[in-house]
Amino acid sequence: MGHEVGENDLAQRLLIAGNWKMNGLASHLNEGRAISEGSRAFAPQLDLLLCPPATLVRTLRDQLDDHVFVGGQTCHHAEKGAHTGEVSAEMLRDAGASHVIVGHSERRADHGESSESVRSKLTAAHRAGLIAVVCIGETLSERETGKTLGVLETQLAGSLHDDVSADDTIVAYEPVWAIGTGKTPSTDDVAQVHAHLRGKLIERFGEDRGRAIRLLYGGSVQPANAATLLAVPDVDGALVGGASLKASDFLAICEAACNCR
Ligand code: PEP
Repeated sequence: MGHEVGENDLAQRLLIAGNWKMNGLASHLNEGRAISEGSRAFAPQLDLLLCPPATLVRTLRDQLDDHVFVGGQTCHHAEKGAHTGEVSAEMLRDAGASHVIVGHSERRADHGESSESVRSKLTAAHRAGLIAVVCIGETLSERETGKTLGVLETQLAGSLHDDVSADDTIVAYEPVWAIGTGKTPSTDDVAQVHAHLRGKLIERFGEDRGRAIRLLYGGSVQPANAATLLAVPDVDGALVGGASLKASDFLAICEAACNCR
């Protein structure tokens, strides 16, 4: 696992996380290695995380430098049992993961995951000693009907339990309509949402905890827009899908992140 990070510097230190989704065979590990080698210079300034398919967690962990964290993309709420096809948080941890994404909009949409089930996965992640990246985001129709902040508030409230801290939880704002589409909200919109989410975190968890929990932006982050998005107040990093599959793109985003702080 990478270096230890104290609660007080988390909000200032950017995290660039890659979600490979259901992409990546063993032949793709060379991209992971290229990311690891190419990001050594960024390690003092940035946290880096790659979330490959569960089949590659162990091998990727073994092949990357310690400064790159490796995570899963979801986990079951139970530790073990008769749940064919599922992967528990303990299994991810056992395979070398330090993080796990929970509540990605593709899981919420394709597998009917509610915020309540996301919260139980978050609890499972913490039980296993994993840091959870909790995703929330509005759909296009919710945005167009002015429901964005209300939807996010409900997802945030329902997906977190009361004992979360910056040491074990990261929140990723990912507008559903921006994922994989090449579209992004304006920086004003991102700033408004992140300020609102920060306010809600502070309201629920108090000033110190609420400020320290990192808030990532995700949705069509690319080398060309990373600097602009990462410069938005209260954006503490990015969750990157498509552009994390290619080392050169992911590294360009990391470089943009380094130049932001
Ligand atoms: C994602 O799936 O979390 C994501 C942000 O995807 P993309 O960067 O491809 O929009």
